[in-house]
Amino acid sequence: MGAAAVISLAEVREQKQRAQIRRQLHEQFDQWLDTVEEQVKEPKPTLAQLTQAVWALRQELTGQLTTALIEQRYGTEQEQHHAPCPQCGRQVAARAVVPRKVETLVGEVELARPYFYCVPCRQGFAPLDAALGVAPGRKQFDVQQAAAKLAVEVPYETAQDLLQELSGVGLSTARMHELTNTVAAGLSVLDVTPPRQEILAKIAAVAEGRRWRPIGVLAIDGADLPTRPEAAKGRRPGRKKHRAKRAPWQGEWREAKGFRFYLVEDDRIIHLLSWHQSQDHEELFAALRQVKEVGLIPEDQLRLCVVADGAHWIWQGVQQLFPTAEMILDYYHCAERVHQVATAHYSEQPEQALEWVEATMARLFAGEVAGVIWGLQRLRPASAQATAAIDDLLVYLQNNHARINYRSQRRAGYPLGSGGIESANKFICQVRLKRSGAWWYVANSNHMLALRCAKYNGTFEHVFERYRHKVLEQSQQKNVKK
Ligand SMILES: [Zn+2]
Repeated sequence: MGAAAVISLAEVREQKQRAQIRRQLHEQFDQWLDTVEEQVKEPKPTLAQLTQAVWALRQELTGQLTTALIEQRYGTEQEQHHAPCPQCGRQVAARAVVPRKVETLVGEVELARPYFYCVPCRQGFAPLDAALGVAPGRKQFDVQQAAAKLAVEVPYETAQDLLQELSGVGLSTARMHELTNTVAAGLSVLDVTPPRQEILAKIAAVAEGRRWRPIGVLAIDGADLPTRPEAAKGRRPGRKKHRAKRAPWQGEWREAKGFRFYLVEDDRIIHLLSWHQSQDHEELFAALRQVKEVGLIPEDQLRLCVVADGAHWIWQGVQQLFPTAEMILDYYHCAERVHQVATAHYSEQPEQALEWVEATMARLFAGEVAGVIWGLQRLRPASAQATAAIDDLLVYLQNNHARINYRSQRRAGYPLGSGGIESANKFICQVRLKRSGAWWYVANSNHMLALRCAKYNGTFEHVFERYRHKVLEQSQQKNVKK
């Protein structure tokens, strides 16, 4: 009986508090409306004039609303008189209510919460901050996420402008720069790949109603990125174009190597996962091995093929990891090589050059590699340049003999070209990283690439969550260590 009475008393108190907060909110809303109305002088404003006034003041309202909601849910915590020290567990008395203002996408939110200080541990703490998952510093995680998302798409200066314009929250380019690097720090291929179930579902959707297992493609390729040496450190990002003229360092083009898995359904490409980094081939294959080992690519459910150019290291690595996959020498890379010979050898006779290219490609398409090699060996080179081109092509065809079976590969439904990786290269690497005047530190370019892969793979939110957890964990540990 007594206990029931206590509960109902607490309930009554809570209801009273709720009603009070509501009243307070209604009053605030009235005031806000007054302000909006004051702003709109015209008796018959246009829609644009009205929305402009509301837009300019919206965060005042939504920020206050959020503050009230916190008060409503955390009334007990806000009136807390004692709290255990996170380090020694001693009960500590509240010092005072310290208001803390934080910036969110819905405006400034005021956290009025008691502050505690454990003297023996020399540690200050605010339990409400931990309960709410408040980010250290002023800019909250929603702002950070929006900023990171923008910075992954467009240059930092543009990202800053867009964020300011669209959300009303400012964040310096230096802070954005630091943010993307922190979010991406330590990301590995498995952090940015979608979960296995998602990949399996995509495969199942393509397989449905078909006699054959779907074709899965692994394409490997590189793209050149503008990088700068570590020695260039100390210069602020931005305005590189002008500084570069006087800069003592020289930009360098480095290859970002990457791979992409995708499905081919009729003429459509269905993306599974991508991973691109400025890395050597051992690192690339280490990442590929990780993907294989966790079973992200169910080889028993696919007809797997590998499409790549003639680079020896690619085929060597692929052979070890996916020995049963169909190996396809990229048709277009191959055609380019053939064209080079034609240009060098038939430089004066463009018609003959074209004829020769067509005949050679037709024979290669039919799988007559030996015949083409035989013919090449009997060409009488017209120049030293032609000799070199012919020798190159001979080596190339001899090395890739087993991977040129275009007609039967096409009949089996395999793609002959690695257009799938070229578009990924363009989207992941070039669109954001290849911009006039931008030279990247390798570590930063890898961070950006990892985030762009995450975006492309549909795992950006997941990556940001990982970052959020890490920051909150660190801030708590920091509190404990102090
Ligand atoms: Zn303590």
